[in-house]
Amino acid sequence: MQTQPRPALFLDRDGVINVDRGYVSRREDFEWLPGIFDLARTAQGLGFALVVVTNQSGIGRGYYTEQDFQALTAYMRERFVAEGVPLDAVYHCPFHPESEQAKYRHPDHPWRKPRPGMILAARDELRLDLARSAMVGDRVSDVEAGASAGVGALALIGAGEQLPQGWEDVERFDQVADVAGWIAGLAKRQGRDDGRAIVVTASPSVASVSPKG
Ligand SMILES: [Mg+2]
Repeated sequence: MQTQPRPALFLDRDGVINVDRGYVSRREDFEWLPGIFDLARTAQGLGFALVVVTNQSGIGRGYYTEQDFQALTAYMRERFVAEGVPLDAVYHCPFHPESEQAKYRHPDHPWRKPRPGMILAARDELRLDLARSAMVGDRVSDVEAGASAGVGALALIGAGEQLPQGWEDVERFDQVADVAGWIAGLAKRQGRDDGRAIVVTASPSVASVSPKG
């Protein structure tokens, strides 16, 4: 049966899922941001695929390895599963223009945000409807990638980033915990709320899950 392309919630990683400490590569340094699982539950409950798109130039820069990244990603994905909201996909871009390792050296890789390559790959591989999708990031490069890909709704977390003129459509939020209501409103405007519970608040299961793996 042919299914309709789905909308997705695209999430940057550092600064959206976990605290951005700069080149986070170990689970000891992976501190979950409050509200991320409620946001994921709200979005998934409203029919959004959950897709992480993360620049990982720390691999290309030699700060950590691809294996380190994959181990941390497995840890991250297990926690989303434990929270009842499995991620549909995680895309990462290890390239950097000045990598000392030739295989990671690229002057302007199409997957490296602000370029839209990771989002476009997800669209094709997961059959996503980008116009009905949303991108949540904490850097201008995140919303630029979303805009370049044609993602319909863009959100920027934190007050630290200056948006260039002409980006007035980007929603600004102080913290991740504030984003779920926006996603619910987006789905409602798209006619997909189905009368179900809109914003999911902390469920009892959350407390039983250890924050440390
Ligand atoms: Mg970030």
